[in-house]
Amino acid sequence: MKTSKIITTALVSICFTLFLNNLNAQNMNTHLDKRQQKIAGIAANTAVGNLDALKTEINDALDAGMTVNEIKEILVQMYAYCGFPRSLNGISTLMAVLDERKAKGITDTVGREATPITETSGKYERGKKTLETLTRRPESNPKTGANAFSPEIDVFLKEHLFADIFGRDVLSYQDRELATIAALTALDGVEPQLQAHCNMGINTGITEAQIKEITALVKYPVNKTPLVRLAKLRIDAAQLENYVVALREEIETSVRVEPGVLNLYAVSEKENPTHFTIMEIYAGEDAYKSHLETSHFKKYKSSTNEMVKSLELVETAPVVLGAKTNESIFAKGGKGSADWFTGTVWVQPLVNPDEMENLYSVGSVTFEAGGRTHWHTHPTGQVLLVTEGKGWYQERGKTAQMLTKGSVVAIPKEVEHWHGAAKDSKFVHVAISNMANGNNVMWMSPVTDEEYNGINQ
Ligand code: MN
Repeated sequence: MKTSKIITTALVSICFTLFLNNLNAQNMNTHLDKRQQKIAGIAANTAVGNLDALKTEINDALDAGMTVNEIKEILVQMYAYCGFPRSLNGISTLMAVLDERKAKGITDTVGREATPITETSGKYERGKKTLETLTRRPESNPKTGANAFSPEIDVFLKEHLFADIFGRDVLSYQDRELATIAALTALDGVEPQLQAHCNMGINTGITEAQIKEITALVKYPVNKTPLVRLAKLRIDAAQLENYVVALREEIETSVRVEPGVLNLYAVSEKENPTHFTIMEIYAGEDAYKSHLETSHFKKYKSSTNEMVKSLELVETAPVVLGAKTNESIFAKGGKGSADWFTGTVWVQPLVNPDEMENLYSVGSVTFEAGGRTHWHTHPTGQVLLVTEGKGWYQERGKTAQMLTKGSVVAIPKEVEHWHGAAKDSKFVHVAISNMANGNNVMWMSPVTDEEYNGINQ
């Protein structure tokens, strides 16, 4: 056991503490307004170089009353996150849109320019101050991490990004954080930076619900039509059973681990049980393409190659769709802190201890596959109600118990344990913990991969 940490509530991550502080301070905006949607759309499409979509977003933004200078400002800011090439292509796209609109007789408002900076303090100090405003934390000189190893990047970040760029008042800090969160959501492999900017965004008044909307907007734009494909197969009768095993594994894995795979439904004909039709519904072309690249699909493809006598793929066009939605019960919430969780875990406070005379706290916790808590104890115990997926509960020295939707766990006080998702499944539970002297959890060491893999999943 390396470190023990006592915190006020088990379920409130740093992100959420700030979020709740913010909630008390102002009304909760659950939705992005039109202007904010456009800021997110422009930033995300610039970041990934999707210039056709960017063109549409810029047109919409201008129609919604954004000024040319505001849009230009987003495109300039983007170079700090995705480089000059993307930023310059974005600016060229803006110029092309303005020309087209001018030709159509539309007059767009240029808007005001940035106020010249008159502050006399050094740039580094100015950038540091901006960063402190955004993080609500004093910035000490870096002693560890990338900024200490490379002092030049620390200077560039503070002097350039946070003094030069964020110092320009054409956009508010909130606008700039919206743009940044959208861009980082669109880019791959920048999760730590996205997390940091979510926290900063929340400090500027962006709500968690709005961040969720940005994610939905960027990942699954509304104008994207699902891609539906039919696969018609004839299976070698001698291999039928093996084929079904492989197909089941492939379909179950795909819908479980790929957010872009909406539905896979395989049926066989009663009269001809070797004749299969698989209806495949993907969030879009990208989701389909990435599905083809997954290891589970490739494995299915190669392992069933000999079993499939013929395969016909039918492209389809949408006509009518009627569907029931199957959404999670509670909101996913904000990302849980790496200080207490391993992997990707989301925390949604449901009842704040303050509301209950500090007697107990309730929250919903969503663990992505492999996500789990660190080892911990509760001074007065905890109840878990599993609402979705498959996961584990384990007490120190005992065999892990598998949990599925509907499982209930009553955890005694002071018993060291962890809970979390199975390797291959999302897992959601509501956690109710009693408070004792303002605390409801004592955090301990992480559940190591060795410990986690040892539970015989
Ligand atoms: Mn617990």
